[in-house]
Amino acid sequence: MNKPTETLAKAQGPSPRNAWVFDLDDTLMSNVHDYAFPILNACKLVIDTLGDAAPHVSAIVALEQEIDSRRVAEINPATNQPYGYSMERFPTSLVEVYREICRRVGKSPIRSVESELLYTGLKAFDSSRYRKNVYSDTFPVLDFLEKKGDLILLLTKGDKRVQGRKLSVLDAGKRFCSVRVVESKKTPEVFTEMAKGLESYRLFSVGNDYEKDIVPALGVGYRGVWIPVETWEVIGRLDEIRARVDQSRCIELRLLRELVERYDEITGMVA
Ligand SMILES: [Mg+2]
Repeated sequence: MNKPTETLAKAQGPSPRNAWVFDLDDTLMSNVHDYAFPILNACKLVIDTLGDAAPHVSAIVALEQEIDSRRVAEINPATNQPYGYSMERFPTSLVEVYREICRRVGKSPIRSVESELLYTGLKAFDSSRYRKNVYSDTFPVLDFLEKKGDLILLLTKGDKRVQGRKLSVLDAGKRFCSVRVVESKKTPEVFTEMAKGLESYRLFSVGNDYEKDIVPALGVGYRGVWIPVETWEVIGRLDEIRARVDQSRCIELRLLRELVERYDEITGMVA
């Protein structure tokens, strides 16, 4: 899927000055509620199955959040690799929630309930929703940058089986001059690789997650454009994160369309 950025940079001629590395989920398309209905349905199934032995629904949701967050770094025994952001983490985390509750109340998990939880969780990856998940600002902003002669690149983290379907909705292979999916995290090295051949460009990383999309990029010469969304990974922490933002090299936007409205201000930032 990747095209050599050097070749593309040359093909664009000498005029482009800026290269934008976009995040995908919750930056160009909404992802934050894709998991909501599977989680709610899983809660219902656990309560239907365990009856009065089930904890309060808010405790089930909190346990799901706790197990999902912990599992990102845990080793998947089937692969000997961390679960990361793979489909092996969610929806298997829903099964683990059920098993943990069963352990706590001294009941044996039922295999058919576990299968149903997996099936329910897989609906988070229903690709029929992806087209309407694309933000209304996304294509106008990308078109604006292209008209400016800028380069647009895409760097997303997640399961390639899932991200691939989202990328096809965006027609990403044609629209972006480079597309990369990482399954664990966006490291400074990944940002450096994305910028290969673009040494004469001003580099920008645009994303909703300051810690994961912006910080690793600032360390290797990018400017940051942070458009915060309160996802499951930053619930209740946005103010604390905002206090740590390096405002000399990162600008915070409320909406993606402000990238157009404040283009001169953003591109005038010093790296
Ligand atoms: Mg994101």
